[in-house]
Amino acid sequence: MATEHLQNYIDGRWVDASTGDSFADIDPATGETIASVTKSATADVDRAVDAARRASDQWRLYPAPKRGEILYRAGELMLRRKEELAREMTKEMGKVLPEARGDVQEGIDMTYYIAGEGRRQFGDVVPAELPNKWAMSMRHPVGVVAAITPWNFPLAIPTWKIMPALVLGNAVVFKPASYTPLLAVRLVQVLEEAGLPKGVLNLVLGSGGELGDHLVTHPGVDLISFTGSSDTGSHISELAGRLLKRISCELGGKNAIVVLDDADVDLSLDGIVWSAFGTSGQRCTAASRVIAQRGVAHDLVEKLVGRAKKLKLGNGLEASTDVGPVVSAQQLERVHSFIPVAEKEGATVAAGGRVSTEGPLAKGFFHEPTVIVDVKPNMRVAQEEIFGPVTAVIEVTGIDEAIKVLNSTKYGLSCSVYTRNVNHAFRFMRDAETGLVYVNAGTIGAEIQLPFGGMKATGNGHREAGRAALDVYSEWKSIYVDYSGKLQRAQMDTVEGVKTAP
Ligand code: NDP
Repeated sequence: MATEHLQNYIDGRWVDASTGDSFADIDPATGETIASVTKSATADVDRAVDAARRASDQWRLYPAPKRGEILYRAGELMLRRKEELAREMTKEMGKVLPEARGDVQEGIDMTYYIAGEGRRQFGDVVPAELPNKWAMSMRHPVGVVAAITPWNFPLAIPTWKIMPALVLGNAVVFKPASYTPLLAVRLVQVLEEAGLPKGVLNLVLGSGGELGDHLVTHPGVDLISFTGSSDTGSHISELAGRLLKRISCELGGKNAIVVLDDADVDLSLDGIVWSAFGTSGQRCTAASRVIAQRGVAHDLVEKLVGRAKKLKLGNGLEASTDVGPVVSAQQLERVHSFIPVAEKEGATVAAGGRVSTEGPLAKGFFHEPTVIVDVKPNMRVAQEEIFGPVTAVIEVTGIDEAIKVLNSTKYGLSCSVYTRNVNHAFRFMRDAETGLVYVNAGTIGAEIQLPFGGMKATGNGHREAGRAALDVYSEWKSIYVDYSGKLQRAQMDTVEGVKTAP
């Protein structure tokens, strides 16, 4: 069967890139090519930005409730195609089918939630300090948004960016990760079918680097919304910062699950296995550290090792598979490189630790679910993001040390505590330096109606999802209307008949 050819979507048309070149979209479970992908160059970015610029003026004037209606229709289409989208996602990036369904559902949830903003987008109307004067604030679209997304949530993360950008009246240039162009094309097709006018959303396929830098520095782009690695985030922040461009970054994490002596250990095990090995550890919120209090550590490690060894690696489309492949050969090599690093620093591999090459696994990119013990908080395996099915167990004496170790990395995305002690739970919620905190649940599983993002080097202070997302994709405009018919001076004029402070 001929593989599908994926094209750019510019100004309402599906077109090949100017280079005439293409690259392969590969199933990480089998190594097979599932699609050929047009390979864009900077000239294609120029076309996409030009189209978005032209469309943005009309789009910002299109009534917001009508913009919201298009999103509702897009949500309906995704819901109808949920199974198809999930299967394609598993083929394209490897996560097991139930998780791929969850990814699509998150995209649907976000789309419906944000569609409602078509009829909200509340501003403030506040009293003015002078008579016959009106004071209010309203949101104003930023203009053209560059949405640059990673491969690990190939549908959900693009919806987090594109939907709020659109409902607020921005036009978008979408640059998805090179590992997941198929899901990006599917999302754009959905929005096209839902009735989005031409030019409002444009898709450019091709690899980061030169093309990405060109998009970020393009004078026609007003805002960059980026999710990806800290290295790329800091590089493009530098480029954008020099040009005083708005930029929102969601970056890496080194998330931890803390298990205190008074915890329900079996419950914590479920949370650890799910958070450390779900999506093969390729979630920005994955639990790549377990911080265990001394009294519980031995029992916890023994059970965790047993659970990790039982997990079945395989193709995510098969119902018996617990853990799928990592996304690429390059990622596999990177993940595996942490094993000798950990051992050299004195840690011990208690489960897993190898690249899996038995039978059909040899064709894909599989890494065994791995538990590393005897880990000290300053070791690389306890500090650096691994982004694979590897977790490091650190022992501590109690809640104080647990919080200290938790906060000892440069990242601050997600964490969790397992405890039955309400005082410990509240101290943890207060003192954790992370944007997401879970109590008696794993580090993954955020819902879209609350803000999502991290503190410290996980980002640059912005949040996606929830109401907070609206602040990224709009500017506040404060408006004063003086209907007194005379010059009135705020902070200076006194009001007749009203006694003012001395
Ligand atoms: P990368 O930073 O490598 O890539 C992310 C995106 O940026 C891709 O679309 C990539 O394109 C693009 N890109 C690469 N270089 C440039 C450039 N110079 N200018 C503009 N765009 C560029 O990250 P990964 O895709 O490998 O994703 C994994 C990382 O993402 C992990 O570190 C993870 O923690 C983080 N992440 C964070 C999340 C959060 O919300 N905090 C959520 C999910 C992931 P291309 O694919 O073509 O290289």
